[in-house]
Amino acid sequence: MQGLMMDYQLTLTPFLERAMRMFPKKEIVTKSGPSLERSTYGEVTERIGRLANALARMGIRSGDRVATFSFNNTRHFELYFAAPCMGAVLHPLNLRLPPDQLVYIVNHAEDKVLFFEPQFAPAIEKLSAHFKTVKQYVVMGPTVPETTLSPVVSYEELLRNEIPDYPWPRLQENDAAAMCYTSGTTGNPKGVMYSHRSLYLHSMGLSMADSVGLVERDIYMPVVPMFHVLAWGTPFAAMMLGTSIVFPGPHLTPRDLAELLSAEKVTLTAGVPTLWMGLLNLLDNERYDLSNLRGMVVGGAAAPQSMIEAYEKRHGLKIIHAWGMTEMTPLGTVSNLLRSQEGLPDAERFAIRARQGPPVPGVETRAIDENGKEVPWDNKTFGELEVRGPWIIKSYYNDERTPQSFHDGWFKTGDVVVIDENGSIQIVDRSKDVIKSGGEWISSQDMENVIMSHPKVAEAAVIAVPHPKWQERPLACVVPKPDFKDSLTKEEIYEHLKTKFTKMYLPDDIVFIDAVPKTSVGKFDKKVLRVQYKDYVLPDR
Ligand code: AMP
Repeated sequence: MQGLMMDYQLTLTPFLERAMRMFPKKEIVTKSGPSLERSTYGEVTERIGRLANALARMGIRSGDRVATFSFNNTRHFELYFAAPCMGAVLHPLNLRLPPDQLVYIVNHAEDKVLFFEPQFAPAIEKLSAHFKTVKQYVVMGPTVPETTLSPVVSYEELLRNEIPDYPWPRLQENDAAAMCYTSGTTGNPKGVMYSHRSLYLHSMGLSMADSVGLVERDIYMPVVPMFHVLAWGTPFAAMMLGTSIVFPGPHLTPRDLAELLSAEKVTLTAGVPTLWMGLLNLLDNERYDLSNLRGMVVGGAAAPQSMIEAYEKRHGLKIIHAWGMTEMTPLGTVSNLLRSQEGLPDAERFAIRARQGPPVPGVETRAIDENGKEVPWDNKTFGELEVRGPWIIKSYYNDERTPQSFHDGWFKTGDVVVIDENGSIQIVDRSKDVIKSGGEWISSQDMENVIMSHPKVAEAAVIAVPHPKWQERPLACVVPKPDFKDSLTKEEIYEHLKTKFTKMYLPDDIVFIDAVPKTSVGKFDKKVLRVQYKDYVLPDR
């Protein structure tokens, strides 16, 4: 017996049409240099039609990849819909990647056209000779600067010559809509190809009250770059709901962000923890009115408990801690309190919110031990997290490394976790970051969080260093806050750690460094530290 409901294809086009008809006056704002560019869903959806006509005139056909090299701004948002809804594939490129990786990605994706910000013209000129498939360049501004790139045209000129009506094609829900490459891998980056269906369902996932709970009433500011997992999929959900958006543009210092959050009365924002640690420092010293801000989504790396507590206790601001991956569009878990946890003492509630949390409806999770068996939900037994669901990858794009990442129809995340009786996940480490000392596994993330809760510490990364007897032992690399650069001592950190860890877990040594190296998306890059300290001789303790 079959159900008798419509075979309605889940594509992004109805999001566009809904916003056009229902929310033409809602605002979309971009910070561009010192000024703000204000537009509306009415204007933006009209320009999306013009842009689709321009892409078609350029020869972009169904399935062609449209690359962008851009910031979080309104033009980029227009591309987010014009390309997928006309049947092409949006492909945002990571601005912070080294040139050889960019060339690899553009050629591997076979990008046909490249949209870029005017200031990147010199950088793109240097690479263009290596791009094998790019046939057209578009400068994302009113005019074309002096450049050797060819053929090249300006975005505004393209739009001026087109009409807003576009005959949107009837797409199939499994058609490709967008792609991103993973940032975390060693070796060449791997491509993830999102479908219309996965982006549609993921937008619903983001809007659930038990998840991030984005709503029409929000004024939303994505600080997470639009090249990092499509700004965590949030621009699609914003269009679906008609949520006002504030795009922060290229300037992302804590002061820029605080001013914009305050001036535009932003209610919800999102970004990686390093960003919010910087903002916290600023808010501790200067006053801004952030009374409209109801939540700050933090993901991409663990939100330290001390940061969640500091925001809430000192500034009345709520961190919404989420975990995900490029391969998951990225939403996996959100660490909201359950009804039964609401009355718990402060310390317990903050500890729960610092976990990665239970999977959002739509995502299934399990953890598997070294023998391939599922581990119990006892909050003790370590296992590798595996996931499945409608917005999770089934295969990398043209990549022979795909089979290594799947187990029995589940995607292997590479994250080592414990799971509690409520199904709430706590990431212990990336599998390559766990410290294997004798028979014990030591979580570097736990230790980093405790060190970073010390009032004199700005950042901390804990890595494994080879050890003749124990195979590996922990070394803590610590960045003092500027005021304590010369005064913070190893003893103070050991005293602090002893309140939480027994002797066997304490790092064998502590080194002070100026900054923890960061990846292209702003996470701690422990690979660099591991190489730097691979021959480090640990003292006897
Ligand atoms: P990416 O694909 O670049 O977003 O990286 C995904 C990886 O980032 C995950 O597999 C985790 O290791 C890490 N990650 C993302 N969110 C969190 C979080 N809330 N806590 C801890 N690790 C996280």
